[in-house]
Amino acid sequence: MKIAILSRNANLYSTRRLKEAGEAMGHEVDIIDTLHCYMDITSSRPTVRYHGKELPMYDAIIPRIGASVTFYGTAVARQFEMMGTFNVNESVAISRSRDKLRSLQLLSRRGIGLPRTGFASKPDNIKDLIKNVGGAPVVIKLLEGTQGIGVVLADTAKAAEAIIEAFMGLKANILVQEFIKEAGGADIRCLVVGGKVVAAMKRQGAEGEFRSNLHRGGSAEVIKLTKQERETAVNAAKIMGLNVCGVDLLRSQNGPMVMEVNSSPGLEGIENATGKDVAGMVIEFIEKNAKLHATKTRGKG
Ligand code: ADP
Repeated sequence: MKIAILSRNANLYSTRRLKEAGEAMGHEVDIIDTLHCYMDITSSRPTVRYHGKELPMYDAIIPRIGASVTFYGTAVARQFEMMGTFNVNESVAISRSRDKLRSLQLLSRRGIGLPRTGFASKPDNIKDLIKNVGGAPVVIKLLEGTQGIGVVLADTAKAAEAIIEAFMGLKANILVQEFIKEAGGADIRCLVVGGKVVAAMKRQGAEGEFRSNLHRGGSAEVIKLTKQERETAVNAAKIMGLNVCGVDLLRSQNGPMVMEVNSSPGLEGIENATGKDVAGMVIEFIEKNAKLHATKTRGKG
């Protein structure tokens, strides 16, 4: 098969591994810089052009679209879908998962366990916003944050109010969330491929740090999931309509709670922690599912 990986950087671990795995399984794999693609959307025969030439017809694309290029990246992915190319994660599902509020609303509507969450732009009663998620301590998150930046733990209602006011002053949209203390500074990353959890790891924050992000000095180890955790991850992926994704869970006393569903999960941490060939499993998924005109809108909202 001819497979294209949409990625801004051919040297990234995940991009390299997907190319390697695809080639090892006998496929032709190109890496295409998403932002360098340009398209003719008026034509009756949609095409994608790159470096002055029309790109060949690919059987499948693997979108690795970073949060900062979601808008243009999903447009490029959509163009491939219009051409009939199979897209591992359809563009609509990527856009859906990038909107944290929309994701939480969709997941809550379907009964997935979530930390109690309030969101606000210009709350007229900050005290009530805090009280409504159970009172301090609360976690306050910038809607646009990634890799743990913009995620703050406020121990007291006073601190929470001050932080919310500061974010409001910057005109930022925020989430105010119940702090899941019993998670103990750890979370669980479940890698879902084609409706199955194929690898899972526990990420533990550095000493004294409630955020477990590996970018913030956290460490990772293999973990055995409970049946409920496995089902929660699979359901969350399904609701978001993502074939390949990372579902982040917190272990709470009320069962697993989903924090986030990531449509371009990094492979380095999870492959190193578990020793599993996740990239190979993504290629296998393509082998089983890539048919022309087979990308269909799944999930809702
Ligand atoms: P980002 O998307 O920037 O990584 P997250 O929402 O995943 O932000 O939060 C970063 C980390 O902070 C999580 O991996 C988790 O360890 C911790 N965390 C986030 N929300 C909560 C919460 N409500 N309760 C306890 N820990 C949390």
